[in-house]
Amino acid sequence: MVAKLIDGHVQALLLYREIAAQVENFKAAKGYTPGLAVVLVGDNPSSQIYVENKRKACAQVGITSQVHHLPKTASQEEIIRKINTLNADEAIHGILIQLPLPESIDGLSVISAVAPHKDVDGLHPLNLGLLFMGRPNLIPCTPLACRHLIKSVLPSLKGKCAVIVGRSFLVGRPLGVLLSFENATVVQAHSHTANLVEECRRADILVVAAGSPRLITKEHVKQGAVVIDVGITRGTDSKGSKHIMGDVDFEEVQEVASYLTPVPGGVGPMTIAYLLQNTLTAAQKS
Ligand code: NAD
Repeated sequence: MVAKLIDGHVQALLLYREIAAQVENFKAAKGYTPGLAVVLVGDNPSSQIYVENKRKACAQVGITSQVHHLPKTASQEEIIRKINTLNADEAIHGILIQLPLPESIDGLSVISAVAPHKDVDGLHPLNLGLLFMGRPNLIPCTPLACRHLIKSVLPSLKGKCAVIVGRSFLVGRPLGVLLSFENATVVQAHSHTANLVEECRRADILVVAAGSPRLITKEHVKQGAVVIDVGITRGTDSKGSKHIMGDVDFEEVQEVASYLTPVPGGVGPMTIAYLLQNTLTAAQKS
């Protein structure tokens, strides 16, 4: 078996079209455009690339965007003051804090300062709590992206075994909740899981969000499983060229999986598409 590719760019483009049409309708009805503010602290090169990609994506669907770049020396109070200004700004419907923040900053305090109705990353404790209680408001973008990609090839998850490698509050845990609401049986594996191969081999759907390049090989994957690779690790090869590695050994796993996402070009583009969707949703609810 050679796995079919789940193309994140194609899926994202389809969603962009729907969002752009809805943004047009929104503008016609309200007379203003949905607005996103991105807060970037410091000069992490990867974060700068992500922020630029988000800015371009907003422009593609007609969402207004602003980038607020604070120096890496900015204090927690300064960051929260900036967020408070954006919370009060009626032209801004979504606020995204680009992660990671510098180590000296308490991320939870900063995320909690975002008004929950503008929290387009879905990471505010209130929004995560609502999600866990089955009454979601704004849901984190990467889990939404994973669910979308899975359902593009497997419309019903009822009774399927979904194994998620990773239990971060950003990806693994909220995704576990989403898939459990889809009536999948969810196994949450992590760095202390006793036998990762055995757990993974049970999966009809295997999602890997560990940040550990090529952690998942052929032996982890049941014949015919759907495999979603969330991992992004930036590296440099022996010739000095930069590249991005996923958590799945693509060449090996494509021999046994039925469907597989590439890295890059899988979960990444879809995550940005859901940031746009969440910004539109926040504007519609405002
Ligand atoms: P994290 O470091 O917060 O969490 C990693 C999780 O993986 C932890 O729960 C840990 O227990 C588990 N883990 C680590 N090594 C493991 C191992 N060897 N075996 C089993 N479990 C292991 O990371 P995160 O924020 O959840 O991100 C995970 C990966 O996904 C990173 O590579 C990140 O860059 C990527 N990511 C991609 C997108 C995207 O849009 N494509 C979005 C968010 C994160």
